[in-house]
Amino acid sequence: MRKNSSLSHEIGSSLGDLSGPFSVYIHIPFCLRKCPYCSFFSVPATPGESEKYLDLLKKEILFYRAFLGEKSEASTLYFGGGTPTMLSPGQWEDLLSFLEENIPVSPCAEITVEANPESFSERHAAVWKKRRVSRVSIGVQSFSDGDLLWLGRPHDASKACEAVRTAVLGGFSVSADLMFGLRDQTLRSWAGSVKTALGLGVDHISLYQLSIDEGCRWNSSPPSGRTDGYPFYRWSQWYLPRKGFSQYEIASFSLPGRHSRHNTAYWRRDPVLGLGAGAWGFLGEKRYRNEGSLEGYASSVRAFGGSVAGMESVSGEKAAREAAVLLLRTQWGIPFDAFSHKYGQAILDSIQDTLRREAPADCFSESPGSLSLTPKGMRVANALWSLIV
Ligand code: SF4
Repeated sequence: MRKNSSLSHEIGSSLGDLSGPFSVYIHIPFCLRKCPYCSFFSVPATPGESEKYLDLLKKEILFYRAFLGEKSEASTLYFGGGTPTMLSPGQWEDLLSFLEENIPVSPCAEITVEANPESFSERHAAVWKKRRVSRVSIGVQSFSDGDLLWLGRPHDASKACEAVRTAVLGGFSVSADLMFGLRDQTLRSWAGSVKTALGLGVDHISLYQLSIDEGCRWNSSPPSGRTDGYPFYRWSQWYLPRKGFSQYEIASFSLPGRHSRHNTAYWRRDPVLGLGAGAWGFLGEKRYRNEGSLEGYASSVRAFGGSVAGMESVSGEKAAREAAVLLLRTQWGIPFDAFSHKYGQAILDSIQDTLRREAPADCFSESPGSLSLTPKGMRVANALWSLIV
């Protein structure tokens, strides 16, 4: 616990040293039930648990508020999970008004909430609108009942349509998460999901390949019949730009001006204050994680307010290479002036030389001021990262 206390104070001091904007990530770890492929920190919601959790979150917010300087304010807020819509509209009203009172938030901040179709309602949308939420990111995964059943999701396609419609009619910028590489998935059914999302009026789509990582139920006995994701991804790269969506990041497509500013902060290694059990943050070149269990989080926050359980300082060449990989995820790529100013010309030259020598020429493009991946480069990005790190 003493270790948690000193790490939390160190992160608090880094927050206090900021002289500009920062982002805030808040983890809401409750779900209706655990999906078999899920390795995120999430627990089934039990009565009374969310109330206790919100009290702890408030305590953690107050802990960091004490460090905040005059000049810094949040430019993006992101509530992720878990399933944030497991909180009731009344709990949202309470949490958002508490945040407004205790964290300075820019008047033009982007405020995103993740929503899942089985628990998202018009009442959530009404509270969020009143409290300046601007984006809703919906865990659709698929508009095919068969896919959703196989994934063990608690919603069906009609519930997914209803959720997207509610968010669009509520006046939010709406993103849909869609997943490929599912059992017996065909290009036709994948295209159907993408087209349904566009037809419902989303302005952002995040595409993910189903991955079965350590810590999930399927990890010990992976299901058979999963499809190769490459054709689905390739088709999306061809189709979405024809509908006005640009691929601004490896897994993200949006209409003009509708990219996620919060996620972009991660790719630019901008400061992120992570709050809640299992949350990650990045402040003052230190990456940190909070206690990853409800019990650990509760006892640490009750004891002194913070909950940082682990921290890694990333600096020098390692930081530069990490930054290059993150920037190359995006359509903007590596901006030469800003990058060399921050990390030095030598490391920039080294990364450029490596790519020119070892990567196929049609995987990246160079302009006078920057270097970025082409759509083909994004398809083989993992191989390119291994050249850089
Ligand atoms: S809804 Fe999301 S966070 Fe919750 S168990 Fe399923 S995949 Fe995990």
